[in-house]
Amino acid sequence: MRIAVIGAGPGGLYTACLVKRLRPHDVVEVWEANAARDTFGFGVVFSDGALGGIEAADPALFEAVTAEFARWTRIDVHYRDRTQRNEGYGFAAVSRHTLLRLLQERCAALGVRLHFGTPAPEVSRLRASHDLVVAADGVGSRTRARYAAAFGTQRQEAGSRYMWLGTDRPFDALTFAVVETEHGPVQAHAYPYAPGRSTFIVEVGDAVWRAAGFRSAERRPADPVGDRDGIDQVARYFSGLLDGHALWGNRSYWGHFTAVRNRNWSHGNLVLLGDSAHTTHFSIGSGTKLAMEDGLALATALHEHRTVPEALAAYETERRPAVERMQRIALTSLEWFENIDRCVGLPPDAFNAHLLTRSGRLTRDDLPAVDAEHVGRIRRRFADAA
Ligand SMILES: Cc1cc2nc3c(=O)[nH]c(=O)nc-3n(C[C@H](O)[C@H](O)[C@H](O)COP(=O)(O)OP(=O)(O)OC[C@H]3O[C@@H](n4cnc5c(N)ncnc54)[C@H](O)[C@@H]3O)c2cc1C
Repeated sequence: MRIAVIGAGPGGLYTACLVKRLRPHDVVEVWEANAARDTFGFGVVFSDGALGGIEAADPALFEAVTAEFARWTRIDVHYRDRTQRNEGYGFAAVSRHTLLRLLQERCAALGVRLHFGTPAPEVSRLRASHDLVVAADGVGSRTRARYAAAFGTQRQEAGSRYMWLGTDRPFDALTFAVVETEHGPVQAHAYPYAPGRSTFIVEVGDAVWRAAGFRSAERRPADPVGDRDGIDQVARYFSGLLDGHALWGNRSYWGHFTAVRNRNWSHGNLVLLGDSAHTTHFSIGSGTKLAMEDGLALATALHEHRTVPEALAAYETERRPAVERMQRIALTSLEWFENIDRCVGLPPDAFNAHLLTRSGRLTRDDLPAVDAEHVGRIRRRFADAA
């Protein structure tokens, strides 16, 4: 079988890697518009539930990725000069650059053909020359847009704005912080992902964003930082939390989170995967995990079904319920943050409790359980193929 993958994010690379592991004779080719070392973002969080599947499907990759993990067990809430420390959670995070490098190396070792700095050929040409085309080209997927009617795509932009930043402030917990500016609340979500490196996502309601004088900066592709004025202003707001540490960008600009849903995840021999199929608000940190789990489900479905249409139907049947559940949780979380001003003013204990229970299901116990039987099945499948 010949398989074309559009996009070398975590979803596309993990799919390519697992297909090659299960079906070494397939020709798997990945196109990535950016250079190999060039990507957006900083660190990404994984829940423990994601790791069981990843470990079982490819222990070598699992070992390499988990060796790079920052791990912690606390959620800290900084609000009105108080820090509430909430113990008993389980988080792990890794630099997105590192994750992609490890996935690229694994793909190369398994014989996946990788083309970096090369936008994918026209999709209709790929569909004609390949048995299957995987559109793993992210939230703004042009492939999906081209067949939007067939996929039944729905896109909904959040009212609030965010910017994905990094800092050398070594956080040791998943950290939520609210700064009450004269214009209204501005909040940050921060967590460690490597020694001396933390992700710092700032989020603000549109009215506060405008009143505070933030602007949509002109995008300058040659500038590796992004919206320098915006970043400086955010650093001033959070100077107490940053405690003298730097805040930096990686082609970072203000954006709106876009919720993506599709009525159908495939159209003929073209299939959506990861953010091109579905997105979840970053406040529940699960998009990378979901994209990789999609890859695992698609690779196993291709291995277990005789035809591509059967495999694509099985892939969607397996993934849709889990994805939609996470999208519901993410939507509730997004709405809580969009309406944060309703809770700002509560005493710190009450604010802390509201934040932690905002989705009703966001405790460690509610993260998708590691289904031991499911993991065992994956391990056997990949062991048979090895
Ligand atoms: C602020 C923020 C914080 C986040 N934090 C987390 C987190 O903590 N944990 C988590 O799990 N997730 C997080 N996410 C979500 C996560 O980044 C995405 O869900 C994940 O990257 C999806 O992976 P993907 O492979 O589907 O798409 P992407 O990672 O978006 O990869 C798509 C790739 O396709 C390439 N591409 C696009 N068009 C073409 C083309 N025509 N030809 C070739 N290549 C193309 C792009 O260059 C890109 O490299 C966060 C997202 C945001 C915005």
